[in-house]
Amino acid sequence: MKRTFTAETPLQKGNKVNIAGWVQTRRDHGKIVFIDVRDMKGVVQVVCTNELAKELRPEWVVEIEGTVKERPDAMKNPAIETGGIEIAAEKITVFSKAKTLPFAIDTDGYEIGEEHRLKYRYLDLRRPRLKRNLILRNRVTQLIREFMLEEEFVEIETPILTKSTPEGARDFVVPSRMYPGTFYALPQSPQQYKQLLQIAGFERYFQIARCFRDEDPRADRQPEFTQLDLEMSFVEQEDILDLTERLYVSLVKTVFPEKKIQQVPFPRIPYKEAMKKWKSDKPDIRKNKNDPNELAFAFIVDFPMFEWKEKEKRWDAVHHPFTKIRNPRPTSPGQSPGGRAKSEIRKENAKDLLAQQYDLVLNGFEIGGGSIRETDPEILETVFEIMGHTKEETREKFGHLLEAFEYGVPPHGGNAPGIDRFIAVVLNEPSIREVIAFPKTGDSRDLMMNSPSEIAPTQLKELHLRNDAKP
Ligand code: ASP
Repeated sequence: MKRTFTAETPLQKGNKVNIAGWVQTRRDHGKIVFIDVRDMKGVVQVVCTNELAKELRPEWVVEIEGTVKERPDAMKNPAIETGGIEIAAEKITVFSKAKTLPFAIDTDGYEIGEEHRLKYRYLDLRRPRLKRNLILRNRVTQLIREFMLEEEFVEIETPILTKSTPEGARDFVVPSRMYPGTFYALPQSPQQYKQLLQIAGFERYFQIARCFRDEDPRADRQPEFTQLDLEMSFVEQEDILDLTERLYVSLVKTVFPEKKIQQVPFPRIPYKEAMKKWKSDKPDIRKNKNDPNELAFAFIVDFPMFEWKEKEKRWDAVHHPFTKIRNPRPTSPGQSPGGRAKSEIRKENAKDLLAQQYDLVLNGFEIGGGSIRETDPEILETVFEIMGHTKEETREKFGHLLEAFEYGVPPHGGNAPGIDRFIAVVLNEPSIREVIAFPKTGDSRDLMMNSPSEIAPTQLKELHLRNDAKP
């Protein structure tokens, strides 16, 4: 007999159905037993004789054949979708038994130690709150795809085994077996590929991309995270901001209609003003911080191009080195369009140079950032020089990109809003771990798979590696 989802059983009043799922609860009333059966779409109440349900325990996986009956009026429960009916069981098949779960799954789970929850994440995910979070996340990514395709973007996958990109974090590296002593790097973002795709003539690229950054433990960071990576040709800063804004307005309206966006167009706040007024480059500009449905988006613009790293005694790019430097005055001959005169881009001026960079902030969180890109190889070489790289190092690391810029490069720019953070903020979740199916702990461990872990000596040998560390 064909299986019916629990949520669809109310449409089958009087009919025989076959449902399957987990025993959520069992209530013994002497001769009869009530059990709630849960599947991916909901729960339904089943009435059985004690005989039939004798053995059943919570979280056993069962198949039940029975007839859908209207409940007596006094027994109806309008709070649940199937509350008007119940299934009178005729046959029960047990697919598998279950041990007592290590924790309760019918609560929101915040009261349980997180390490415990992450060790048994597959059970934690049975919790309705996490189910809801992942289903909403799926709706967000689905809507992003629809929106971007409608705007004529092309979704293109870029490699995971790649070469280091300087985005300010440490790379995760993968040793090459075939080329002893060499390594791939996992992408900190698809930055260089998306720029190369502009040179290839894909004027509108996007990808729901996984990024990897080996950062020291910081509250609520993940070594891998997901972003909507996008890049466009023949655009200026305002084109990207406008597209990003329309996307978020549409996301909120469609997926989170109960939320209210404080201000559209999102305010564009210069970095200097943000620092002066809020002492933060990700200010929380909500008028009413007590309202859980208030969303205050803003773009922070006109960031400095460089920041001084006291520890390393060198200038570093605030966003990344591919960002175009802003021209504070109107363009005149000898200046790259919208950029500074080449002669003004010097180490002595580093602290005064502004970038065509923008961050998207929401309720005090940075949820994305991007920039218009510099495409003049000479200026890029100067930027790398200011950051302390010799010409040779720059050629060695970025020669492929600089060379590509010599074959006809359109003006281009992009953005990369983070998906995990946006969903966590909108859902008022305390951590992005609450909106990721299988997150790592705050200190980058996967407690369920027990990773990172040692590998076999034979694997090490194949990779030409020696393990000096004792975990
Ligand atoms: N690649 C940058 C990032 O991941 C975003 C961008 O400039 O488009 O932060």
